[in-house]
Amino acid sequence: MKRIGVLTSGGDSPGMNAAIRAVVRKAIFHKLEVYGVYYGYAGLISGHIEKLEIGSVGDIIHRGGTMLYTARCEEFKTLEGQLKAIEQLKKLGIEALVVIGGDGSFQGAKKLTEHGFPCIGVPGTIDNDIPGTDFTIGFDTALNTIIQAIDKIRDTATSHERTYVIEVMGRNAGDLALWSGLADGAETILIPEENYEMSDVIARLQRGHARGKKHSIIVVAEGVGSGMDIGKQIQEQTSFETRVTVLGHIQRGGSPTASDRVLASRLGSKAVELLLDGQAGKMVGIQGNILVSHDIDEALAKKHLIDQDMYQLSKELSI
Ligand code: ADP
Repeated sequence: MKRIGVLTSGGDSPGMNAAIRAVVRKAIFHKLEVYGVYYGYAGLISGHIEKLEIGSVGDIIHRGGTMLYTARCEEFKTLEGQLKAIEQLKKLGIEALVVIGGDGSFQGAKKLTEHGFPCIGVPGTIDNDIPGTDFTIGFDTALNTIIQAIDKIRDTATSHERTYVIEVMGRNAGDLALWSGLADGAETILIPEENYEMSDVIARLQRGHARGKKHSIIVVAEGVGSGMDIGKQIQEQTSFETRVTVLGHIQRGGSPTASDRVLASRLGSKAVELLLDGQAGKMVGIQGNILVSHDIDEALAKKHLIDQDMYQLSKELSI
């Protein structure tokens, strides 16, 4: 193998740049040429592809977002789109591709591999919702962004003796809510993986109030539903002044944490190692601090699970 490509696709996440850098530098270290595909699969179809050198990925390790930009591309979901993409790659003599993105992007990588074009997936998403890896690139940074926001909200919550409902991202996964709720001592954490009763949420709030608590923080994963609705129900069912904050896209930006930069460097590098080893249709991941790889097929067939011990702990610590 002489020439590989790299792209970022789907939702961006902090640390994607560090992953691109790792792919490029590791490949060049092993005497491969590397091409960057801009705008994800859309750029693959349109041929927006440029050669990357060592210096092309300088000064990006600390930056959020992705220097290759990202996009969602409906055309790529069709066979015609996928074949067009392979044609573009072949025109440039690119023999394999590293895809940095979430599960949707991995489906695309799987399709290309099935058509005979080798791909490796690197998990990049703040949601931490990809089976086969304990952590995805961007999760830790998003988590820290949430913590900083909740800390600030807590100050004003205390001053005004208010109840705050904070809606965090995560799509169908509760990891961001669970980890941020635990790290911020939230009274209640609502995640899509666990059923809840509104009456329990209210009872918990009232218990806290009865023992003199000045404020309450409730973290709601977006996969549960609207934080606004939950805030409204609390306001209606208690006398507590309730405010709702939807953190939104600030969670996707910012300089990646050290943890995400290191994870991205390790996973990006591992992806190139797999390609050099002749492997394809795999995703890289980290489990128990060991770098692993799985068939994309097998990994995506599994359901992402939350850590039950952590969920139980969060309940025990917020009695
Ligand atoms: P993420 O990778 O963050 O989960 P998406 O689900 O939006 O984001 O997927 C990103 C892109 O991956 C899509 O816009 C599309 O181009 C491609 N993709 C998603 N699902 C498939 C699929 N089943 N087959 C082929 N390509 C897909």
